[in-house]
Amino acid sequence: EQARSLGSYSGTCTTKDGHRIPLLANVGSGADARKAADAGAEGVGLLRTEFCFLNRDTEPTVEEQSAAYREVFDAFPACKVVIRTLDAGADKPLPFLTDASEPNPALGVRGYRTELSTPGVLDRQLKAISEAADGATTDVWVMAPMISTAEEAQHFAESCAAAGLKVPGVMVEVPSAALTAGAILQRVNFASIGTNDLTQYVMAADRQLGPLAALNDPWQPAVLQLIRQTVAGAETARGGKRSSGEPNGDNGKSVGVCGEAAADPALAVVLVGLGVTSLSMSSRAFAAVAAVIGSVSLTDAQGLAQQALAAPTAIEARTAVRAGLPILT
Ligand code: PEP
Ligand code: MG
Repeated sequence: EQARSLGSYSGTCTTKDGHRIPLLANVGSGADARKAADAGAEGVGLLRTEFCFLNRDTEPTVEEQSAAYREVFDAFPACKVVIRTLDAGADKPLPFLTDASEPNPALGVRGYRTELSTPGVLDRQLKAISEAADGATTDVWVMAPMISTAEEAQHFAESCAAAGLKVPGVMVEVPSAALTAGAILQRVNFASIGTNDLTQYVMAADRQLGPLAALNDPWQPAVLQLIRQTVAGAETARGGKRSSGEPNGDNGKSVGVCGEAAADPALAVVLVGLGVTSLSMSSRAFAAVAAVIGSVSLTDAQGLAQQALAAPTAIEARTAVRAGLPILT
């Protein structure tokens, strides 16, 4: 609704005082990627590779995988594409990787953890990504889902290096990763916060259960604090603060957000104010997010982020921030 009332997307998102915030797309296939490119995405911030293979009960071959990834890279020549390794399990089961009889799938062998139960799949996927990237002009970043520790981040970085992939990163979607982001980001080049799972795990509330929607709210103070903590960890890993803007160097320890929170225009302003440097979302949300970010300066966004952090409840945080964004009223 807001997207319609706030006009169309021009193809760039900047704060009122000219700080650029790249808007990237969340996609699950080559077809999605082409649509996102038409909608003006500056790149892909989350390629959910498990979506490419949801109906498969056997592992796709390296050739099949590489063809699927190449379609996405081809939709974004000379742009950044962040490809996530298979996040199988819980809400996204893949028969060839996940055990349907686990009692607690959200806390089970999912995401990067499938490396423990089914070693080899990750290395074959990284090989497929590397082959797809070979000869493409796309700037390919690779990230692992469900990372909980610095050791996992280290192993993932080593696996990427062995496959010739130069920009390894992690999703921050488990509270332990947010709390230890400094150590994790010493081992990888970037982080992308997955607010859907981060919220589910810090609030201990299944993201798929309607009655728990009020708990599953990324405006919850605990979620905002973990986002701030992740940005602070990145600053430590980088060895000091830097001014805003996406770092050019591939090892800038940049922190993006690719969960649904990025598509909430008021929350997007808070994320920018907290130091997040790129936002990835469904391309349908670009117009509204760009309009609202364009209505504030970086200093305004920082002030609103402080107000959100100071609020004792999710409702009060949202109300305070929206009151400070006249474009939304
Ligand atoms: C997230 O958890 O916020 C995320 C972006 O990943 P997914 O929704 O695919 O789990
Ligand atoms: Mg997730």
